[in-house]
Amino acid sequence: MAKIVFEHVTKEFIDEKRGKVIAVNDANFTIEDKEFVVLVGPSGCGKTTTLRMIAGLERQTKGNIYIGEKLVNYLPPKDRDIAMVFQDYALYPHMTVYENLSFGLRNLKVPRTEIEQKVKRAAEILGISELLDRKPRELSGGQRQRVAVGRAIVRNPKVFLFDEPLSNLDAKLRVQMRVELAELHKKLETTIVYVTHDQVEAMTLGQRIIVMNHGIIQQIATPDELYNRPVNMFVAGFIGAPSMNFINCKVERNKIILSDGNSNTMFDIPQKFKKVIANINGKEMVMGIRPEDIYDAVFSQNIENKLYVDVYVKVVEKLGSENLIYFDKYGTTITARVNSQSRIVSGEYAKVAFNIDKIYLFDKE
Ligand code: ADP
Ligand code: MG
Repeated sequence: MAKIVFEHVTKEFIDEKRGKVIAVNDANFTIEDKEFVVLVGPSGCGKTTTLRMIAGLERQTKGNIYIGEKLVNYLPPKDRDIAMVFQDYALYPHMTVYENLSFGLRNLKVPRTEIEQKVKRAAEILGISELLDRKPRELSGGQRQRVAVGRAIVRNPKVFLFDEPLSNLDAKLRVQMRVELAELHKKLETTIVYVTHDQVEAMTLGQRIIVMNHGIIQQIATPDELYNRPVNMFVAGFIGAPSMNFINCKVERNKIILSDGNSNTMFDIPQKFKKVIANINGKEMVMGIRPEDIYDAVFSQNIENKLYVDVYVKVVEKLGSENLIYFDKYGTTITARVNSQSRIVSGEYAKVAFNIDKIYLFDKE
């Protein structure tokens, strides 16, 4: 029904102060019908602009956009059969929930019984049937958010666009709404494009994720692929919290060399790099290792292929289910996420173990 295709889509703005701004640079992707795709990246990377081009609220400078096989380059927003939910959704304060939900349909002169049916269905899907007579000020933040989504649902669009819809909610409610949105997608069976700067939201909601930075698509992949096979340091550092550690290294004679002032640490390149080894031997590179792949040595007995490292621990943060420890090593500050039973304390030396089957190697940027 409603697949969305971008072919070499670029959007340039002329900004009074900055001159030409390339908000989206040669974007290519296909979002399949009924897919839930999340567009993620830091503020200013071009997410909203991408969404607005899908909606037809912004005309692309170059390239082609297709919705459901149809070229929509010049199609106005109202003819695209798309509903958009924004971050600062404005409900009409003087109208009841029912009136807020039905407002758009009344404008379209939809028959009253049909409006009633559609509002009822949307309210049921969202669990707000009891609230139809209330005014927005009598609702909680989460309920108001649901009404905003409901206004999109009643239109029964082919595509839903969400632009950071949860960012004004508190943390607990955000988690709850996240679960509800995932369920909503199952019920609605429509294409959803969801924008967020929050990588956790992206990883939990997206069937596939498009990672953007500076207007350029970095990687399009499933959450699992993004975590396990990030294509560059930007994606690797952006996905996962706390962020991946990056350590300068040298690859030489099938070994990785980490340097700490005068002393070097050396270990064999793990098997998974066998295919690329010929290309990387002799190179200065960056080794990535996630905090969860560095262990308190005491708890590392199950790690097959490990490198023991002696470190001076600067800080330990106890999170309850695990501890974060920070230490300076190999010219950078490294974070490790260790077992909460760990006895490692701040201001003392400790032995940690790097799981070297889990390392990544990146070209220096
Ligand atoms: P995001 O939603 O990822 O935060 P945006 O798509 O809003 O990013 O913006 C991408 C870039 O385009 C930013 O540099 C922003 O300042 C610029 N931009 C967006 N809209 C306009 C506009 N109407 N005029 C000038 N620059 C704009
Ligand atoms: Mg935005």
